[in-house]
Formats: sequence, structure tokens, C-alpha cells
Amino acid sequence: MIDQEDIKAVAEVLASGMIAQGEKVKEFENALARFVGARYGVAVSSGTSALHLALLGLGVGAEDEVIMPSYVCSSPYLATLHVGAVPKVVDIDLSDFNICAATVKEQLSPKTKAVIVPHMFGTPAELDELLELEIPVIEDCAQSLGAEYKSRRVGGFGELSTFSFYATKMIATGEGGMVLTNNKEIYARIIDVRDYDNKPLTPTKYNYKMTDFQAALGLSQLKKLQHFIERRRQIASLYTDRFSEYNVEVPRSYDHKKSVFYRYIVMVNEIEHIKKSGKEKGVTCERPIFKPLHKSLQLFRCPNSDKAYDHALSIPLYPSLSEREIEHILRIFDDVFAQCKPYSYGLHCDGKL
Ligand SMILES: *Cc1c(COP(=O)(O)O)cnc(C)c1O
Repeated sequence: MIDQEDIKAVAEVLASGMIAQGEKVKEFENALARFVGARYGVAVSSGTSALHLALLGLGVGAEDEVIMPSYVCSSPYLATLHVGAVPKVVDIDLSDFNICAATVKEQLSPKTKAVIVPHMFGTPAELDELLELEIPVIEDCAQSLGAEYKSRRVGGFGELSTFSFYATKMIATGEGGMVLTNNKEIYARIIDVRDYDNKPLTPTKYNYKMTDFQAALGLSQLKKLQHFIERRRQIASLYTDRFSEYNVEVPRSYDHKKSVFYRYIVMVNEIEHIKKSGKEKGVTCERPIFKPLHKSLQLFRCPNSDKAYDHALSIPLYPSLSEREIEHILRIFDDVFAQCKPYSYGLHCDGKL
């Protein structure tokens, strides 16, 4: 959601003539690090370059293994290939759609150098259990900026965390990303590889820099983040009140973690029928993950991820929705969900029924 303040912030930087990486980028790095509760921030060109640099920051390289969930976009997988490491794909817990300690354990080996933990759809993963495994955790917060685990914001728990500011994320800079860490040496390494210029010629140098006008947009957006989150939670609560009346599974709520509802996911039977029926009535809903990684790779068994793919549907939820639009969506799904057959989900993280 871009408003006049955002436009003004970007215009000021453009008018200054200093449009590449400079003071605004530094300011944005400090502001995001402070907001999340981490010491150092490195702004980059995307969430994927953030993951790539996070892996380089940990020194992950050829033959090392990196564990990640199947039920995620291809970005963590690609970032792992970029450093020459081997991606190990594991199943999720169906209660929150996240990677969990039980499934990570199945792929742990002496070669495991990192676990990428995306907090999917804005809901934090079970971080305490994952951190107990004592493998460096990279929190992928591309969908979860502002979410809380045990009263602290996600992104401050792992050895590193990464963020995306792509147009549709919690805050937007068009394209953009950030790496946060509390570790000074990792920070220095990442700063070094972000920029190739005026340095000895080595292969691991990139141009992953953010521009000052993107950073100005990021700073302006960050001021509104708390408002975006409150609005998302309000809409989610309206959806949950209403949809609980039907044969669908609404998102769980937790005492120890607070979602930012980047996506509002319901589990339904006959997903294609529901999608079609919604579309005919004027609301387009999508599967939140285009294709789980294990389905493309055909190397790993992930029954919960299969189940999520078969049944999880994302209902439109944006802070910019008007009261009328929300009412419209609620009415349409009154009709659509009234036709649903009961849905109950069984498999949990440990694969037991
Ligand atoms: C969007 C996203 C990314 C990648 O971010 P880009 O800025 O598009 O490169 C990585 N992980 C997750 C979970 C995402 O949602």
C-alpha cells in the first residue's frame, strides 16, 4: 500500500541527486535492526540475495547441506544452490505450515551447516525446539516482519535472519531485502560480499546493493507497519469468526506466538471446486504455494506438505481492503463454504496420524 508520504519520501531522494546506496540505506538498516531487535543490518536487492548472503555469511559452501521445508517458494532452494551446497528438503507441521524440529532431525547429518526456517504466512515456527538442535538457524522472515514468538519479534532468534521487501510483502520497496545478525564477523563478511567494486578480484563478490530511494520508501513504509499489522489482524479475526461456522479449518491461534497474517489460509476439501466457485462469484483465491519443493524434486517424501498443497487455500487479505470489500468477501464465502464437506486434518509434524 503506497501513499502520498511514501511518494514524497522517494521524490526527496530523487531530487537530491544521490540515488545509489548511501545514507538512506544505512538509516533503513539501522531502523529495521532496531525494530526487530538485532544488532546489524545489511540491505540488499531482494529476499533471495539476502538468503544467498546469509549462507555465505555462515561460510556454507560446496558439499555442505542446508535443511529447509518443502512447503515454501523456490528462493531458499535456489540460494542454497548459489553457494554450491546441497539442499535437504523436509516436511512441515500442518498446524502452522512450518518446518519443525521433528522433521529437521530426519535429515540432520555431520554435513548439515544451516537450517532455513521460513515463518510461513506470517506465523512463527516453533523456534525454541529448532534452536535446541544447535545447527545455525537462518530465519526467513520474508512473510513475517513484525510477527512475535514468546513476546519477541521474529528475526532476532536465529544466527541470521532475512527479509524481503518485494511489492506484495509486509512492507515494500519494489524489490529489496535485508540480512540481520548479532554476529559482528558474519556482518563484516556479508558487507564485504555485497559489493564487488574496488576490491581484489575473487569470485564471491556480488552487486546486491539497495538504492537510497528504495531505502527511503522502506523507511516510510516501516513507519506504517504497525498499522498494517493491526489491520491484517482485524480482518483475520473477522474472517475467523465467520468461517468457523463452516466445514473448513481456520488458522489456529496460539498463546505464545502472534501471526501478522501475511496470508489467511483455510484448509478445505475439494479445493478446485471452491476456487472455481469463488471465482465465479468474483473473488480469486489461490494455493499459497505454487508447487512444494519435493514435488519438483521427487527426492523427498513430505506427506504433510502434500496435504497442504491439496487443501490449503489463501483467502484475499490486505491492509488496503475497504470495509465494503471485506463484507463482499465474507458474503461470497458464506455461499461458497456452505457447500463444503467436512474437513478434518490428521497428520502432524512427526508424521503420526
Ligand atoms: C518472497 C519470499 C522470498 C524471496 O524474496 P524475493 O525478494 O522475492 O527474492 C523468500 N522466502 C520467502 C518465504 C518468501 O515469501
